Amino acid sequence: SRASLFDAQNKVKITFSDAAGLEEAKEEIREIVEFLKSPEKFTKLGGKIPKGALLVGPPGTGKTLLAKAVAGEAAVPFFTLSGSDFVEMFVGVGAARVRDLFKQAKEKAPCIVFIDEIDAIGRSRGRGQMPGSNDERENTLNSLLVEMDGFSTDVGVIILAATNRPDVLDSALLRPGRFDRQISIDKPDIIGREAIFKVHIKPIQISKDVDTKKLAAQTPGFAGAEIANVCNEAALIAARKNKDKVDMTDFQDAIDRVIGGLEKKNKLISPEE
Ligand code: ATP
Repeated sequence: SRASLFDAQNKVKITFSDAAGLEEAKEEIREIVEFLKSPEKFTKLGGKIPKGALLVGPPGTGKTLLAKAVAGEAAVPFFTLSGSDFVEMFVGVGAARVRDLFKQAKEKAPCIVFIDEIDAIGRSRGRGQMPGSNDERENTLNSLLVEMDGFSTDVGVIILAATNRPDVLDSALLRPGRFDRQISIDKPDIIGREAIFKVHIKPIQISKDVDTKKLAAQTPGFAGAEIANVCNEAALIAARKNKDKVDMTDFQDAIDRVIGGLEKKNKLISPEE
């Protein structure tokens, strides 16, 4: 909703252990954590830290989670806005919001600014979606570029952005000094899926027969968000049956249900099938 456009959570509790798998991405992003923890250590030696990094990957794979984990690991504030909030905004509002956010972030630095769905603002100019709404989106994008260029990295504001459509982004965003780094966040392999299951069964009362290896093997193609969904569904299914532990059959029913949900969603997207 509009009211929660900027959400400055001063205490992010999420850490790298909450974002399971994603080992390569964590390795790449660790440098940013180190910088946020002690900016002087880096700037003293004249090193240049990237201003921003783009997290690229399919929906539900943990991009937001990883960005929050960076803030949590470094114990710095996390400011966020979503590109989709800027769709259909009144003239001038989007640009003003961007300026406002960066003003707040600079005051609270070192910190993270996270822009989810950056493609909604950062689509290449002149390639717009709907006629009319386009100018305002361009204004917003321009103000983002101005803000990114308007401070040096030693201010300690690091901008992370997420997208699943890097191909449509305006090339101006990808220039050196802006989002000049891309970190890819892929769907998890079987090892990653098992790690994600382990994170999400932690709060659940499971019976001894629950085997995360088997669950990982039964969920090819699932993103982290779908695995989280399976775990929650399994707990609800077991509760409905008045069980006091969630067992393997509950997980299997939950997997079927989530697969069913995904199939339905795909049908809605392509009704001719
Ligand atoms: P979108 O592109 O749809 O915004 P995203 O990549 O930002 O998706 P998140 O919002 O980070 O995905 O993930 C949604 C939820 O799925 C998380 O809150 C978490 O519960 C679960 N999840 C996703 N990936 C992981 C992961 N690697 N480890 C643990 N949980 C995960």
